[in-house]
Amino acid sequence: MPPLRGTVEYKRPRAAVERLLVELALDGHHVPQSSAVFYANRLHGSTSTGLRSDHQGPGRYAWAADIPVSRHADGDAIASDIAWSLGLSWTGAGLFDQTIGNTRWQLIWLYPGHFDHVHIGGRRVDMVAPPVTFA
Ligand SMILES: [Zn+2]
Repeated sequence: MPPLRGTVEYKRPRAAVERLLVELALDGHHVPQSSAVFYANRLHGSTSTGLRSDHQGPGRYAWAADIPVSRHADGDAIASDIAWSLGLSWTGAGLFDQTIGNTRWQLIWLYPGHFDHVHIGGRRVDMVAPPVTFA
């Protein structure tokens, strides 16, 4: 399967995140299945600061996945693979935002609350926010 890099014509964040998970799995990473991400997102709620989370969808507007990691090196590899696939200028750690085309991507790793999982989320910047799927 070709890398996602350069294929940001994926207009739906959920489709892009799910494709990322498939590519990570094909690269040998241990990642949650799309159905597990869906159920996790349904339970997620807003961000720790009370803001709307990408996890809350709806998938045509925003979507996010948390990828559990048990070893530091796995998180490094997953985050860098995600960054490569999306074409992000990731530097290796932290809370990172970058807008490409119509989507604001957020990659979080080695940041408070994100030492045991890698977060990847996308949100459309070219549409009015619809109601959250999972309130
Ligand atoms: Zn998350």
